[in-house]
Amino acid sequence: MKAGSGINIGDEIKSRCNIVDVVGRVVALKKAGSNYKGVCPFHNEKTPSFVVSETKQIFTCFGCGATGDVIAFVERYYGLDFKGAAEMLAKEYGINLDGAFRGSKNKAELYEINRQAATYFFRALRERANPGYTYMKNRGISEEILNKFGIGYADDRWDSLYSFLKEKGIQEDKMMELGLISRSGERYYDKFRGRVMFPIMNTSGKVIGFGGRMIGDGEPKYLNSQESDVFQKKNNLYGLNLASDTVRKEDAIILVEGYMDVISLYQGGIRNVSASLGTALTENQARLIKRYTDNVILSYDADEAGQSAAFRGLDVLYKEGCRARVLKVTDGKDPDEFIKKNGRGAFLELLDKAEPYGDFKINRVKSRYDLDDDQQRIDFLRGAVKILRSMKAVEADVYIKKLAAETGVSEGAIRFEYSGNNSQEKGFTRAEAVLGSRGGDDTDGTDIPPVEQELLKLMLLDARFTAIPDDTEGELFHSSMGRVIYEAITAIDDGKRPIDEYRLQELLDEKSYGYLGLIEKNVITPGREDEIFKEDIATVRRQNLKDKEEKIRIRISMADEDENQEEIVDLMKQLMDIQMQIRK
Ligand SMILES: [Zn+2]
Repeated sequence: MKAGSGINIGDEIKSRCNIVDVVGRVVALKKAGSNYKGVCPFHNEKTPSFVVSETKQIFTCFGCGATGDVIAFVERYYGLDFKGAAEMLAKEYGINLDGAFRGSKNKAELYEINRQAATYFFRALRERANPGYTYMKNRGISEEILNKFGIGYADDRWDSLYSFLKEKGIQEDKMMELGLISRSGERYYDKFRGRVMFPIMNTSGKVIGFGGRMIGDGEPKYLNSQESDVFQKKNNLYGLNLASDTVRKEDAIILVEGYMDVISLYQGGIRNVSASLGTALTENQARLIKRYTDNVILSYDADEAGQSAAFRGLDVLYKEGCRARVLKVTDGKDPDEFIKKNGRGAFLELLDKAEPYGDFKINRVKSRYDLDDDQQRIDFLRGAVKILRSMKAVEADVYIKKLAAETGVSEGAIRFEYSGNNSQEKGFTRAEAVLGSRGGDDTDGTDIPPVEQELLKLMLLDARFTAIPDDTEGELFHSSMGRVIYEAITAIDDGKRPIDEYRLQELLDEKSYGYLGLIEKNVITPGREDEIFKEDIATVRRQNLKDKEEKIRIRISMADEDENQEEIVDLMKQLMDIQMQIRK
């Protein structure tokens, strides 16, 4: 991409489309250190020298020198011009390009107006005594931090900002578009009045909007700029422009609810902190975070609203592949209060104790039950197992052990419930969880049960797992897609690993190959492959025996209707034999 082409829309697309996903659809990428590597699609090569960096969002080929960002890749791969590539990506990622190619001039103008407004508020806080300044001082915010965040003040006259901008020759309709003013009849008036003003900046440091906190009583307590061409709440995080370097360096970000939490933590020496600009974290915000780090610590208010917002945020982050934890503020109501009272060291201690995704979710369910009561203990386990099913196999495994120790229910029983073998409890299967991001509501028989996913993963890791023990009592793969993939693996298997991905890709249709990619990525079996294999084979065997049992029962009832005593006796023997095997 040439510098300067399509300025804003390019940034917008780049912030929303992950280059690893886009390239990964057409080039088989493998994780190599912090990057991804594959065979270059732009020149002929056997050994991969095509590298994609997720953090930098660029690709580079060490063979032929091709390089660029996500748009450049799409341009070149699909033979499109910039506009075509941008449109293609925008369509796929649901980015609204309406008028984007005409409107970039408008955007530049809107940024400039916001910058002027921010300057106006900034001066207003500093030039003479005002309630805004007093308020921030009382909250213990230093001069340095006020400047760093560009904090300002909107006075309570009705036309201060309006007159200022008007004098600069700015059109009313532009001020309206940004939500800086409103109109009543023939009169225009300022929207932000009697408020401390927090300019909201994007990661390139441009002012995209404002948050205003009411001083004293009055509603709403916080007022945000309305959505505009330059301000979309769901795509931005407050404070990320200042936090991003530290976030990268510490490889973690702390997410808080409010402006004041960000500012207080920052002043307290915790600098990898940002706030979602509403209560619920969005997918786009999670993707934005992933550009800098995979590790997210949610530190929301201790009240119920804050905790349930954290609960929802966790799922969003987990789906986007982040490792999320929840920090509970023990003393005080929010992080702002806590750090002021207890200091940085105490906050870092809380940070260490932040609960992982699973613990937080399970503990929330647990708090509703009395574990001394047998029935409640079972109800709790049912709830907990539902949560486990939304986790990756290896994580779920850890929690199964924990739950067993905690409730005194055997690991086997929990595992059985978890595997979905308890047919009355039709919950979320692990396969749905693993494949959720792509599978979605897909119920056309393409789901692969967890046990089959694990078996496929093991076969990809080590050829000896493709040799199936002869006591499985039936088919190993029951899902049609599982079977297709298994057959493809055995068809090309030469006993060597890694397996020849290209031949696999040739044999499989796009959908199966895509699923296999997700399984490779998401099913983790670190170091206990043999154990997991044994467990999986045992699960398959048990399932097959149960299927047989069911079939025999049907035949018994048919023999019964037929009053065929001989047949019944014979079938009863078989039934008892199978039941004995199941119990073993
Ligand atoms: Zn190349």
